[in-house]
Amino acid sequence: MFPYKIEADEAPFDVIVIGSGLAGVYTALNLDEKSRVLLVCKKSLLNSNSSLAQGGIAAVLSKEDSYDLHVADTMKTGHYENDEMMVRCLVENGPKEISQLLAWQVPFDLEGGELCLAREGAHSVRRIARCGDHTGRTVMETLIEKIQDRANITVLEYTTVTDILMTGDRVSGVGCINDNKIAAYKSRRVVLATGGVGQLFRHTTNDETITGDGFSLAQKAGLTLERMDAVQFHPTALFERGTSSKRFLISEAVRGEGAVLRDYEGHEFMTGIHEMGSLAPRDIVTGAINRLLLAQEKAHVFLDATTMTKDFFSKRFPTIYQYCSSIGIDVTQDYVPVVPCAHYLMGGIPVDDFGRTALEGLYACGEVAYTNVHGANRLASNSLLECLVFGKRVAEAINKEL
Ligand SMILES: Cc1cc2nc3c(=O)[nH]c(=O)nc-3n(C[C@H](O)[C@H](O)[C@H](O)COP(=O)(O)OP(=O)(O)OC[C@H]3O[C@@H](n4cnc5c(N)ncnc54)[C@H](O)[C@@H]3O)c2cc1C
Repeated sequence: MFPYKIEADEAPFDVIVIGSGLAGVYTALNLDEKSRVLLVCKKSLLNSNSSLAQGGIAAVLSKEDSYDLHVADTMKTGHYENDEMMVRCLVENGPKEISQLLAWQVPFDLEGGELCLAREGAHSVRRIARCGDHTGRTVMETLIEKIQDRANITVLEYTTVTDILMTGDRVSGVGCINDNKIAAYKSRRVVLATGGVGQLFRHTTNDETITGDGFSLAQKAGLTLERMDAVQFHPTALFERGTSSKRFLISEAVRGEGAVLRDYEGHEFMTGIHEMGSLAPRDIVTGAINRLLLAQEKAHVFLDATTMTKDFFSKRFPTIYQYCSSIGIDVTQDYVPVVPCAHYLMGGIPVDDFGRTALEGLYACGEVAYTNVHGANRLASNSLLECLVFGKRVAEAINKEL
């Protein structure tokens, strides 16, 4: 229960979307332009994990690929614990959402008019649409510009939602804190798009705003959560001594272009462990690194990208190249120290295939939702795809209702 006396905004909104990552922003943009929408976020619109994404968005985008192959890679990586119907929904709706992003002028990397596709761990083929190694930032900047042009969307930044308000069994709004003031906004439809739990861990790749709020909001409103133990640890965060809890990520796409993992003796240890070597699924690579670190009593392993030329690396991965250079690492000459750290949550708030939770009027999409497309371990670059496909479906369900 919201414990304070509150002054509610006069006119109710048709929809309140909580979170300005890809799931929240894409939902808001796909809502009917006749509906009055409030988009609330904890810091600036650009503060989200979505803006930090480097690698890209997976989808079936080439002739050598197929829906069956993408489904098979997703299921195998998830140890077949995924919901296959939801995985099919994710995969088969993927290409049309990438077309929508292209139509909205997202500047994906192109070559001869075709999308330049990257490869990441556990993908059988190249299928990742990308904008250099700053896909998230570029996609989010493009979509946020569109949000700012939409007269029907009101944005409330630096505002933390603290409660989902209920009238009887139905959602009736949100309570929040903005600039030390408490406020409430009315709406019969609320979309939770608050992301995961990374900042609950000592070391994480996640943005500072990602503290698991959506889960506590849902629980306080009476929902139960599923598979909250299913946390994915990314194998290659940059190891830096004395850094804060947020670590810089070295995208899996670097291994997709040929980099390999080595131990302190220079041994390429993944070759004996998995047929895909350094490009094995994340949980397998992370497990192997952790065992090695314990056995060798070391704090990190190394990523060897020295087979790539400076020209290639700095153009393909400009953000990574610049960050490493700024701390004295030349990635094309030196081995890069890397360590696993908390990255993604596969569990969350159970939803149906249109993002409906068990509470009337409450929807969830993106990392906060448990669609079970990822099973026990997420396939790389499937999460931004999930934000697009299920964000769109939440908007469609609400449009229909309105
Ligand atoms: C460094 C990094 C790289 C990644 N690279 C990729 C990649 O290449 N491809 C891929 O598919 N996935 C990638 N991922 C995963 C992917 O980015 C996330 O799973 C996805 O962006 C989640 O999107 P979202 O919209 O659900 O949540 P987020 O993008 O995390 O957004 C959550 C939003 O909710 C807001 N919020 C939270 N709590 C509250 C509250 N109480 N009140 C108001 N607002 C609140 C936050 O401020 C934020 O705006 C990466 C993740 C990280 C951290």
